[in-house]
Amino acid sequence: MDSMIVAPHSGMPGTQLEMNFMETKVVERTLSIIKPDATRRNLTGKINSKFEEAGLRIVAQKRIRMSAEQAGTFYEVHKERPFYAELVEFMVSGPVVVQVLEGENAIAKNREVMGATNPEEADPGTIRKEFAVSLTENSVHGSDATDTAEKEISFFFAALEIVV
Ligand code: GDP
Repeated sequence: MDSMIVAPHSGMPGTQLEMNFMETKVVERTLSIIKPDATRRNLTGKINSKFEEAGLRIVAQKRIRMSAEQAGTFYEVHKERPFYAELVEFMVSGPVVVQVLEGENAIAKNREVMGATNPEEADPGTIRKEFAVSLTENSVHGSDATDTAEKEISFFFAALEIVV
């Protein structure tokens, strides 16, 4: 994963030095999925606009139909949760668009653009507030940390499919 560190200017007073350290910029990649409720309603372009307007670049993208096995493995972390079966069934109910988004602090930024898991709790202007149908059918998935992002990206993409 690329990362860019902003070097502090030498000879600057301490406050400036601290500010420069605080402004450290990290270019990250995150996995995004446009879920079946959104592809069904032809919202791929509108959702992609939200990512691009937020400064995220779509560096890989493909439209696929997930198998039940793939969806089950992808959401394995939720296996014991009461909504697991419903979630897997939903994820295979239609095509999804899997994508790699790249940008500064892309993981957190994407989650901001997506909004809260429950659309009723999502902030105005977020994808889930504008487009989600319900808690299950909430239009998008986004990785939640650097380790899960790496794992989820390699679940769907080979390195050669990611083009900067
Ligand atoms: P996310 O990271 O915001 O997508 O949320 P989670 O990782 O906690 O959950 C994964 C997905 O499972 C969510 O995006 C929802 O589609 C679904 N989900 C999460 N919590 C619930 C729940 O309490 N009930 C139902 N029906 N679905 C849920």
